[in-house]
Amino acid sequence: MKSKPVIVIGAGLSGLCCARLLLKYNIDVLVLDAQDDVGGRVRTDHVDGFLLDRGFQVLQTAYPEAKAQLDYDSLRLQSFDPGALIRTQGRMVEMSDPWRKPSKLLSTAFNGIGTFRDRLKLAKLRWHVTHTSVDELWREPESTTLEYLRRTCGLSDDMVNRFFRPWFSGVFLEKNLSTSSGFFRFLFQIFALGDASLPEQGMSAIPRQLAAELTADMLRLSTSVDSLSTSVDSRSTSDDSMVDRHHVRLRNGESIDCRAIVLAVEGREASRLTSGMIHSPEFRATTCFYFAAPQAPFAEPLLVLNGDNEGPINNLCVVSNVARSYAPAGHALISASVVGKEFMDSSDLNNTVRQQLRQWFGSQVDAWSLLRRYDIPIALPAQQAGFRESLSGQSRLGDGLYYCGDYCETASIQGAMVSGRKAAENIISDLASQR
Ligand SMILES: Cc1cc2nc3c(=O)[nH]c(=O)nc-3n(C[C@H](O)[C@H](O)[C@H](O)COP(=O)(O)OP(=O)(O)OC[C@H]3O[C@@H](n4cnc5c(N)ncnc54)[C@H](O)[C@@H]3O)c2cc1C
Repeated sequence: MKSKPVIVIGAGLSGLCCARLLLKYNIDVLVLDAQDDVGGRVRTDHVDGFLLDRGFQVLQTAYPEAKAQLDYDSLRLQSFDPGALIRTQGRMVEMSDPWRKPSKLLSTAFNGIGTFRDRLKLAKLRWHVTHTSVDELWREPESTTLEYLRRTCGLSDDMVNRFFRPWFSGVFLEKNLSTSSGFFRFLFQIFALGDASLPEQGMSAIPRQLAAELTADMLRLSTSVDSLSTSVDSRSTSDDSMVDRHHVRLRNGESIDCRAIVLAVEGREASRLTSGMIHSPEFRATTCFYFAAPQAPFAEPLLVLNGDNEGPINNLCVVSNVARSYAPAGHALISASVVGKEFMDSSDLNNTVRQQLRQWFGSQVDAWSLLRRYDIPIALPAQQAGFRESLSGQSRLGDGLYYCGDYCETASIQGAMVSGRKAAENIISDLASQR
């Protein structure tokens, strides 16, 4: 007889990584997700021949966990050039990474952003993060990213405000750079060592690859979990083992027994399902606009940063310059991202974004048509300076109840994947010790 499964609630990256490892150890799993497809926050919509990721996002090829778990070749990754174009004072200037693009050394050195001393300090920071282990980077004194850049690295306000602020506002989804300096150091290392990339078939190719080994009976989509119970079931027969007494109740009233439960849902939902045993993190929000254009406004596969910090757009990208497959032939796909909650669902934002695009690229913008706008209120858990001290480092909440998700590690693809793996390792070891 088939044993009761371990139920994984959530088919985002953390839940899929967890389920995949359990399967490898021949542990029966059942993955449940409220959405109609796998991926959680990593989904791609197909609209009129365009691929629209739900919010601008990229895979960093140097993420250690992604390298270990994903088959990059079959994702056919398309990479951004290192560095960025900075829109400032009415023009676009390039800030490249001269270590990886030596031909850009001079244009970057004289781009008018920051001072010569900043260049030396940037070189020192780059050397530091690329010659220090990740563990050591996390052990260094913790502060906000802003304090770290200003005080510890000694970078000028000009360099911070025109380059680092828009760059990392787009990563942390907050403009004050109050996010942990440890997380910044880790990410800076990752940016220096690898590429920002997009799978040829959209970001959803990542969760699809992780879910490939789940058969139809192991995955139930459009299935929302209402509550769970890990209390002793009075109807249990005497030969039920201790691990057989859990069940989840679905929104449709159905109840499913299982040997263990993994909560692989966002922190807020994890908090609801555990009646507050898991503390709900604060969330960062973003809005992303996708436009179809008859032609790209520039040719480079580079991110554009708003170096003036005026207007709603924080960063922009001609996605089809990076991955041609994101737009049908004869069209370009442009994404413009806005950071923060203040504009969430505001209809005025459509006009102000278009006005800003017109300032940047002129009248060609009139021919751009809005394909879709994504308002994402729960995009990333906030991870302020010192956040690691409040992480338990545990994935076991109680007997037979486990949890994982980006909020348990770092707010990233890397963090979600690590936390899913750790939860599975915990379950595997607990089940082995019960034999
Ligand atoms: C716009 C945006 C841009 C991003 N950019 C990047 C980037 O460039 N690089 C990077 O590294 N990271 C990025 N991230 C972060 C990264 O995508 C997330 O950290 C990661 O995907 C989180 O995975 P998760 O498994 O922890 O959670 P989720 O993906 O949120 O998965 C949770 C799943 O649980 C399901 N669920 C919730 N409640 C229930 C319930 N009651 N019953 C059943 N199912 C339920 C949800 O439907 C969801 O599928 C970005 C995120 C967003 C939103």
